[in-house]
Amino acid sequence: MPTIQPQTTPAPQSPLVAMSPAVAPPSEEQSHFKLPKLRLEVRDLSHKGSSIFLSTTNAVDVLQKACQSVLKLLYLSPHDSTTSAPPTRSVTLILRDMPGVAYTTGTELDNDHKEIHLSLRYITSISPETRQAKEIEGVITHELVHCFQHNGHGTCPGGLIEGVADWVRLRCDLSPPHWKRDGSGKWDAGYQHTGYFLEYLEQRFGQGTVRRLNEKLRLIRYEEKAFWTELVGRPVVDLWEDYVRSLENGKHSETSPQ
Ligand SMILES: [Zn+2]
Repeated sequence: MPTIQPQTTPAPQSPLVAMSPAVAPPSEEQSHFKLPKLRLEVRDLSHKGSSIFLSTTNAVDVLQKACQSVLKLLYLSPHDSTTSAPPTRSVTLILRDMPGVAYTTGTELDNDHKEIHLSLRYITSISPETRQAKEIEGVITHELVHCFQHNGHGTCPGGLIEGVADWVRLRCDLSPPHWKRDGSGKWDAGYQHTGYFLEYLEQRFGQGTVRRLNEKLRLIRYEEKAFWTELVGRPVVDLWEDYVRSLENGKHSETSPQ
């Protein structure tokens, strides 16, 4: 499927603007992405999780805000020519009673239409109550990444896919209190484990590193050695060793990313 890019017509510039070396930052409206159709489906209003969701979460605000945050982190702006988002046409958040936390899938008919299934049972288990709203927003943000990220044409390791999703959640300041940097195990263990590693790479190689990683996953199939060497000039296992060493030395900043 071809990727649909929003088209814009540049406004005519006044001579004053044309002579000015400074580029005006985009207005609030210009930096907003056009969002797919967003829908909410509550499958069991008698479930306690439905009451908690509806009393803590403004689904309109949370879904729109989370979509914009995800798109900004992965694609910078609607006018960025270096990246291209997938043609996701709709996202339906479905609240239903099921085990687990949440998952995202394409619909049976068309992969451009996404469904996020969020467990009502899980919502009732969030504790303390004061964390309910933030946890729901965090899970939705993570799942929305799956609606907009690239996956190397299906070849990207699951751990990296999940790591990108939790990196975005981390960057949106929605990380739960139990998350911490952890240098044990492998770099692609996934979720926040890989998410914090991606944040290390973002700080080491500069803002936009994860965005470039995602764009690379649009363009090519994932082949580990070539992928990382082309992206940042070093094999990922070496980068992981650097990261582990930085944690041991306590060099890595403990401040939360903004
Ligand atoms: Zn996920």
